[in-house]
Amino acid sequence: MPGFSHLYIPGPTNLPEAVRRAMNVPMEDMRAPDFPDLTRPVFEKAQKVFRNSEGRVFIYPSSGTGAWEAAIQNTLSPGDKVLMSRFGQFSNLWVDMAQRMGLDVDVIDCEWGEGVPVDQYAERLKADKTHDYKAVFATHNETATGVTSDIKGVREALDAAGHPALLMVDGVSSVGSIEFDQDAWGVDCAVSGSQKGFMLPAGLGILSVSKWALEAHKTAEFPRCYFSFEDQIRMNDTGYFPYTPATQLLRGLDVSCDMLLDEGLENVWARHRRLASGVRAAVEAWGLTLCAARPELWSDTVSAIVVPDDRDARDVIAAAYAKYDTSLGSGLANVAGKVFRIGHLGWLNEGMVCTALSAAEMAMIECGFEIEAGSGVGAAIRLFATSDAPQMKIA
Ligand code: PLP
Repeated sequence: MPGFSHLYIPGPTNLPEAVRRAMNVPMEDMRAPDFPDLTRPVFEKAQKVFRNSEGRVFIYPSSGTGAWEAAIQNTLSPGDKVLMSRFGQFSNLWVDMAQRMGLDVDVIDCEWGEGVPVDQYAERLKADKTHDYKAVFATHNETATGVTSDIKGVREALDAAGHPALLMVDGVSSVGSIEFDQDAWGVDCAVSGSQKGFMLPAGLGILSVSKWALEAHKTAEFPRCYFSFEDQIRMNDTGYFPYTPATQLLRGLDVSCDMLLDEGLENVWARHRRLASGVRAAVEAWGLTLCAARPELWSDTVSAIVVPDDRDARDVIAAAYAKYDTSLGSGLANVAGKVFRIGHLGWLNEGMVCTALSAAEMAMIECGFEIEAGSGVGAAIRLFATSDAPQMKIA
């Protein structure tokens, strides 16, 4: 098809041109004497994006799932009791991994569309006088349902109980897009990947760890090799990696971190709030609802839009793709066919959001939805054009 293809899935996200150009380089020698000139600043900058001042960052040639695994095997031991919750496909998959790896998982099941049940975490942590829980897991931004959870609240629950468990957070679709403060929230392992807020292709698992996680690593007994902290640290401290790194992705990461830090993390978060507000204004104008159960849970990086019971969201996604060359996110597992998702994160501006909304609107009308043409896009335009306020909370 002529014209641009439009990518509005919640990752991989659109690549900034500067990042794409930075990666368009010949293969290079990852053992060259000047290779650390690239890697040292990359580690430092990535750590800043997590707001991690005292720990360190590991950058694996994997996806986010690899960083999940790295976090578990480097800080915990087989049979350790951990507290987790699931309320969407990604929180579900992390539980599945923890169980398959041999952790004793106390899992709290919530409705999809809810977030981390902070009150229940607080109760269980308080009741755990013998400190059996070795770690508490929380999915910050559940990409499948468009739900952002209260990680600060989880830290407060741990502190209120005087509980020493590690705090493990999935920030795959939040870090580099919406507020994430590893220092302030006392996050011990913060998991991310390259293809969302970091605005890169998939291929890097990025794990930012606290000094407490590094301490826990000393007694952690899971067998490990590929993701081993000690192997990484030994080589990373010299500016190299224990095996062939994804050099082009590192070049890209260097630039994408610069872009995030130059824009300023607070401004990045505010931009995502503003763009998400435009999407939410459209959803309201269409007469549809979000999968996220309450406004406090609304995600500023992805909206999962619920279609009426007599419709199948897959038809909308198929129509958008076939006719308008636009990729929208599908409903995963329990919400397949019930929602379509618009990813509004990464390298994105108002015009791009309006394009995503136009394509979704055309596809819905084509599928017989009773929607007035221009209603959703119009609502977003009105919001964008009449206010510069980044922090608006619009339904
Ligand atoms: N966690 C969340 C919240 C995600 O959105 C994803 C992927 O979309 C993952 C984990 C898994 O990451 P990856 O697909 O990079 O392995």
